[in-house]
Amino acid sequence: MDKMMRVMWCERPNQVEIRYQKVYEVGDDDVLIKVAYTGVCPWDVRAFYGLKSSVAFPRVLGHETSGIVVEVGKNVTHFKVGQRVVPDFIVKCGVCKACRTGRSNRCLNPTFMQFGGGYADYVRIPQQNVYQITRPETSMRAAAFTEPLSCVLRGQEGLHLYPGEVELVVGVGPIGLMHLQVARTFGARVIASDPNPQRLEKARELGAEWVINPDQEDMADFVKKVTDGWGVDAAVVTVASARVIEGTVPLLAPGGRLNIFAGIYPKDELKLDPNLIHYNELVITGSADSTPQNYQRALALIESGQVNTETLISHLLPLEKLAQAFDMVKSQAGLKIMMNVNGEV
Ligand SMILES: [Zn+2]
Ligand SMILES: [Zn+2]
Repeated sequence: MDKMMRVMWCERPNQVEIRYQKVYEVGDDDVLIKVAYTGVCPWDVRAFYGLKSSVAFPRVLGHETSGIVVEVGKNVTHFKVGQRVVPDFIVKCGVCKACRTGRSNRCLNPTFMQFGGGYADYVRIPQQNVYQITRPETSMRAAAFTEPLSCVLRGQEGLHLYPGEVELVVGVGPIGLMHLQVARTFGARVIASDPNPQRLEKARELGAEWVINPDQEDMADFVKKVTDGWGVDAAVVTVASARVIEGTVPLLAPGGRLNIFAGIYPKDELKLDPNLIHYNELVITGSADSTPQNYQRALALIESGQVNTETLISHLLPLEKLAQAFDMVKSQAGLKIMMNVNGEV
């Protein structure tokens, strides 16, 4: 009898149900992974509620996954059954101009595994998109953050921090809390800003030198005070708001760099004083997704313990409770919501 698996099937936006189907057949270059954990990302949530028109349905969502190799195709030499791994669900073409100029995160012909997302018992991934967890002490829950951390790392690399510089992280949900930790690995001192006191407390625990609630204190005064009037050398805006970006640019020091990390929907426009950018030689940049280099290095940051991801999990839910998990992320309940698919209890 064919082996069966559970998938959380989304026939259309706003609708998810458990279905049973045959386990994928493994192609010659594929790795079949039994999913341990899959995190719930705001991207999945926006797609589920139909807020991203570019996302095709039906589909199985979920792209922040860790698991165990259970079968390999005949051309697969690098992976063995039983290894613990993390998959990257976006296969880059490898031959387009973006791929060949170090920006494969912007690949012109990427392939998404539309029917094979991580909210399922198994995923089938080409071997070039699989990354091995090398240390036995690395937890599968921590490793499931490799994808979002790889995106964070890409954004932080673009800020070109020097040790001792001050970075402002605006918004310290799970993503901002990873930005804060990566900035610290580059030697920066971090100001964390968020209206949620629990999130600020977590930021403090993870090494923010200063925390500020922008609803209660004036941001510009605060930044002036802690940087002796200089401003922040770098800033990342993790919240999807053009107004917040407009409020952050004037906080930058001469030579300051800004990363616009979150996409903004519905579309909006920025109003900025060009003289501020001109005279202060500001660099305003963005980042989206990640490259294989970012992926490999993100996993290394998790495995070395330099970025603590497991501490960001506020709720572990069984796979069947996915609709509830989407709802929780939408209402910003807790921190990271993670689905326990076949992980330890
Ligand atoms: Zn994600
Ligand atoms: Zn490409």
